[in-house]
Amino acid sequence: MKSLSSKFLALAFVSFVVTAAYAQQDVQAKPKPEDTEIWQPVPAVVTPAAECNAPPSDAIVLFDGKNVDEWVNVKDKQPALWDVHDGVMTVNKVGGSIETKRRFKDYQLHVEYKIPASITGSGQGRGNSGVFLASTGLGDDGYELQVLDGYNNPTYVNGMAGSIYKESIPLVNASRKPGEWQTYDVAWTAPTFNDDGSLKTPAYVTVFFNGILVQNHFELKGQTLYIGKPFYKKYDTAPIKLQAHGDKSEPMSYRNIWARELP
Ligand code: MG
Repeated sequence: MKSLSSKFLALAFVSFVVTAAYAQQDVQAKPKPEDTEIWQPVPAVVTPAAECNAPPSDAIVLFDGKNVDEWVNVKDKQPALWDVHDGVMTVNKVGGSIETKRRFKDYQLHVEYKIPASITGSGQGRGNSGVFLASTGLGDDGYELQVLDGYNNPTYVNGMAGSIYKESIPLVNASRKPGEWQTYDVAWTAPTFNDDGSLKTPAYVTVFFNGILVQNHFELKGQTLYIGKPFYKKYDTAPIKLQAHGDKSEPMSYRNIWARELP
């Protein structure tokens, strides 16, 4: 009798412990709002400019309308020969393409450009320039966001304004008329490479053209090429390049260029 009652007691105890454990687990499993709150680290305070095209407090100003001190000619790395006047800089086709002295990896970029109202030519020969998001060598080496008159100017659509040249057609044509200032706002994620030069992670780009999304986190297939299929070439950091295209149309102008490095 005694042994039966002690067995009963032991069983009761075990069932109590098991029930308590389940109850405890139940309490632990119940999610609270605080479980998913993150408090550290706190993002840095950046003061936006009163006018949103103006550089915010943490921007690197690459052209403020006064001089081209941040730029060199691509071909000889000498001071950039583009003409600064009236707060803008105008392409000098003899001087050729220019690139930043600074080198970048991942960044946000703001650029403004104007195709002259008197522009002539057609297709790729009408206001052709380009923002190379990474300039990886001489000439047109790198990754080009096309600049071109896109207003009633038919051309191949993967080479129109807002395209990633010969890689990605813009989602819409957001071009303004020649003679009007236009904006590009870009988020660039640089490609990364393994020690042997093979690709680790591809480049991505998001572009707003005159405030309208035209490239939405597009994954690049490599450098943008005039001829042939794109491929990647290892680099770590690179300048940003502005193209002096060899077309015969009037040179175009740029103003208000700034970048923010991304962690
Ligand atoms: Mg171009």
